[in-house]
Amino acid sequence: MKIKEILKDKEPHISFEVFPPKTDAGYESVLSATEKIAALKPSFISVTYGAGGGTSKNTVNIASHIQNDLGVVSLAHLTCASSTKDEVRQVIGKLKEEGIENVLGLRGDIPDDVQFPVSNQYKYAYELIQDIKSQGSFCVGAACYPEGHVETEHKKDDIENLKNKVECGVDFLTTQMFFDNNILYNFLYRIREKGITVPVLPGIMPVTNSKQMKRICSLSGTALPERFRAIVDRFGENPKAMQQAGIAYATDQIIDLIANGINNIHIYSMNKPEVAEAIMYNLSEIVKV
Ligand code: FAD
Repeated sequence: MKIKEILKDKEPHISFEVFPPKTDAGYESVLSATEKIAALKPSFISVTYGAGGGTSKNTVNIASHIQNDLGVVSLAHLTCASSTKDEVRQVIGKLKEEGIENVLGLRGDIPDDVQFPVSNQYKYAYELIQDIKSQGSFCVGAACYPEGHVETEHKKDDIENLKNKVECGVDFLTTQMFFDNNILYNFLYRIREKGITVPVLPGIMPVTNSKQMKRICSLSGTALPERFRAIVDRFGENPKAMQQAGIAYATDQIIDLIANGINNIHIYSMNKPEVAEAIMYNLSEIVKV
């Protein structure tokens, strides 16, 4: 099923992201986590895409397993910064062979110390998205950044670039994580004003590891509100307490989003089924499964 069809439903839905193992050795444990998350009956599960090699193969395999064996709609991420156009097209061909209908088209982060782009590479995600669209009837999603993408100096340029990307055939957007819902509401206002009308899925990250989170936030430019900092300061050294507080914070964010009419929310599961389960339990009277 195409995600754009799921997004037409007016009831609240939750979807999850999983990431493939960095090496084949971790494959079974990722599969096991994915199966537990699939058992929660999310509206779909997305699978991230690493830079080339084994992880990209695992993205297709895991997305196929989710859809064809576990009966949950899957969304395969696909990046182009570390691959040639021919390599990317081969992956698109494999996705088609596996019957995967949904792809998140991304540029990916530019690897350090390499010349980018070379002649047979896509420079921006919109070029990849045009190509995915030309190669089949995929439902295509793309990334957006409520706080602006780190490489863009002015938010208004980021929104212009987003509008151009969406006009290349994007069916829905998923946001970078954020910890203050007002940032999302302001972003939605700004993009709607500019004529970007596709559905936007807020990406919610339940924080369970404070050190890792501080590093990710400083790399991505995600703001840490005072309320959130207080939680990390108080519970950051106690993993179990931090996990419980992180689940509560994420649940609170999700309930506020749903209360404000946002019906489709994407959760970065970090391959932790126990976190996904706890959030779904907290939302059991609120979310349709
Ligand atoms: P683009 O849309 O190409 O934008 C990149 C930058 O270029 C932005 O600053 C944009 O404003 C600018 N830009 C775009 N078009 C133009 C133009 N025409 N002229 C000038 N500037 C322009 N990374 C992974 O490696 N694997 C994943 O699976 C993955 N999943 C993600 C999922 C989500 C929901 C999000 C939010 C991010 C994900 N990322 C992933 C990270 C992402 O690949 C990086 O943030 C990357 O730096 C940008 O990718 P993009 O697709 O947004 O790029």
